[in-house]
Amino acid sequence: MKSRRKKFFSYYKPYIGVLLMDMACAMIVSVAALLLPLCTRYITGKLMTGSTPALLEEVYRMGIFMLALIVLHTVCGIFVDSNGHAMGAMMEGDMREELFAHYQKLSFSFYDEQKIGQLMACITNDTLAMAELYHHGPEDIVISFIKFIGVFVILMRINLRLTLLIFLFLPVMVVYALFFNKKMHTALRKNKDRIGDINAQLEDTLSGIREVASYTNEAFEIRKFSFLNARFVKSRKEGYRSEAFFDQGVYAFAQAIVVAVIVFGAAGIGGTSLNLADLLTFLLCVNILFDPIQRLINFTKLYQEGITGFARFMDVLEKEPDIGDREDACTPAHVQGRIQFKDVSFRYPGQQQYVLRNVSLDICPGEFIALVGTSGVGKTTLCSLIPRFYDVSAGKVLLDGIDVRQIKLHALRKYIGIVRQDMYLLNGTVAEAIRYGRLDASREEIVAAAKKANAHDFILSLPRGYDTELGQRGVRLSGGQKQRLCIARVFLKDPPILIFDEATSALDNESETAVYDSLREVSENRTTLVIAHRLSTIRNAKRIIVLGDSGVAEQGTHAELMALRGVYANLCDLQLRL
Ligand code: ADP
Ligand code: MG
Repeated sequence: MKSRRKKFFSYYKPYIGVLLMDMACAMIVSVAALLLPLCTRYITGKLMTGSTPALLEEVYRMGIFMLALIVLHTVCGIFVDSNGHAMGAMMEGDMREELFAHYQKLSFSFYDEQKIGQLMACITNDTLAMAELYHHGPEDIVISFIKFIGVFVILMRINLRLTLLIFLFLPVMVVYALFFNKKMHTALRKNKDRIGDINAQLEDTLSGIREVASYTNEAFEIRKFSFLNARFVKSRKEGYRSEAFFDQGVYAFAQAIVVAVIVFGAAGIGGTSLNLADLLTFLLCVNILFDPIQRLINFTKLYQEGITGFARFMDVLEKEPDIGDREDACTPAHVQGRIQFKDVSFRYPGQQQYVLRNVSLDICPGEFIALVGTSGVGKTTLCSLIPRFYDVSAGKVLLDGIDVRQIKLHALRKYIGIVRQDMYLLNGTVAEAIRYGRLDASREEIVAAAKKANAHDFILSLPRGYDTELGQRGVRLSGGQKQRLCIARVFLKDPPILIFDEATSALDNESETAVYDSLREVSENRTTLVIAHRLSTIRNAKRIIVLGDSGVAEQGTHAELMALRGVYANLCDLQLRL
C-alpha cells in the first residue's frame, strides 16, 4: 500500500516545476477573487459618505487596481487551465507509455485470461481518470481552501451573526449536494457498464452478421439487443433524475442563502443589520462561496474515479511477467539447434489437467522432424515450450544442452522461427508484413523470402504489389495468402530452428506442395519441426514422432510406422478415407 502511494505521487516528479507554478497561480486566482468584493466594499463605502473630487480620484484609482486584479486573475487562470491541463495530459502520456511497455512484457498466460477490451479501457479510460485527479485535485483543494477561509474571515469581520447563520446553513446544503452527487455518479457508472454491454453485443453481432443471416436469427438478435438497450435507457433515466435534483436543489439552496442575507441584513433581525456597502459585499462573497463547495463536491468524484483507475492500473502494472530472464541467463553467440525434452510434463497455468506427461525427445541439429498426433493431444503446446511461451511444469527443455530457462528470452526467441495456423498480420503493407520477420531487411531480401514461400506471384497480382495495404482499410487476403506471408516472414527471419505448426492448413494441395518444397530447401542445416496438416506432406521425413496421451507413442520413418500398424497407421488410414 505504501509503495503504491509512493508510486502515485512519483508521476508528478518530472513536472514538479509546472505543478508549483500551477499551485501558485491557483492561489493568486483565489486571492484575486477575494479581493474584488473587498474593493467594491471600499468604493461603495466611500461613496456613501458623499462625493468630493478627491474621493472620486480614489475611486478611479481603485477601479484601476480592480482592473489589474482582473488581468492577473485572467493570466493566472489561463496558466492553470492550459499548463495545468497540459501537465495532466503529459502525466497521462507517461502512464500510458509505461503500461504499454508492460503489456509487451506480460506472458501468454496473462493474455489467455484477459479480455482485450478491458486492457484497452485501462490504457485509455483509467489513465484519463487519474490525469484528471492529478491535475484538478491539488488545484481544487488549494482554491477551495483559500476561498472558503477567505470568505469566512471577510464575512465574519463584517457581521458575525449573519456569517454564523450562513455557515450553519451550509452543511445542510453540502449534505444534500453530496447525496445526489453520489446518486448521480452511481448512475453514471451504471450507464458505463450498460453501454459496455451494448458495445460488446454490438461487436459480437456485427462481427458475426454473416452467421446471423445464414441462420436467419435476426429477430433473436434484435430481442437480445432491445433488452440491453432498454436497460441502458432505464439507467440513463435514473441518472437524469438525480442530476435534476442535484442541479435544482443546489441552485435553490444558493438562492435561499442569498435571500436570507438580503432579508436578515436589510431588516436587521437579531442584530444582523448591515449598511449598503456591507450588504453588497455579503452578497458578492456568498456567491464566491459556492465555488469552493462545487469544487469540493467535484473533487469527491475525481478522487473516487482517479483512485479506482489507479488501483486497476497498478493491478496490471504490478503483475510480474511469469516468464522472464533469470539473473544469470546467458546469451549464446550461435546455436547448433539440438533440442531435447527431458521428462517434460506441462499443464496450463490455473488448469488441473496435464496436457503433456513425461515427454522425452531428442532432436539432433539440422534434423527434419514431423510431429503427428490427434487433434488436442498437445502438439502446439509442445512446440510453445521451446521458445518459452510457457514454462514446463516439470522436467526440462534443453537447447544445445542448455536449459531454455537459462537463456535470455530475447536471444532464445531470436533463434526460433514459428509459423502457426492462426497467425496475425499487423496493419501495414505487404512488404511491412514480411519485414516483421527482420526489421532491417532490404526489399530484395523480402522479395526473395516471398518467392520461397510461394507468395511472390499472388503479391504481384495485388493492386499495388508489395505496397498494398493490408488490414481493415486495405485488401482482404484469403487464409492461404496470409499463411504464405507468414511463412515468407519466418524465411526472412532465417532462424536456426524452424517450427511449422499446421502452417499450411489453409493452402490448397498445390501451394502446399510448393511451400513444402521450399521448406525442405531452407530446412537444410537447420532443425525443423513440422506439425503437418496432411500426413502425405511429411511422408518423406527422416523421423516422424507420434504424440499420444502419455508422451511419445511411436517414432520412426513412414515405412517403419506403417509396419507397426499402430497410432500412425490409423491416422493415415483415416486421412486416406476422407
Ligand atoms: P494440438 O495442437 O495437438 O491440437 P493443443 O496443444 O493446441 O493441441 O492443445 C492441447 C490441450 O491443451 C487441449 O486440450 C486444449 O484445450 C488445451 N489448451 C490449449 N491452449 C490452452 C490454453 N491457452 N489454456 C488452457 N488450455 C489450453
Ligand atoms: Mg495445434
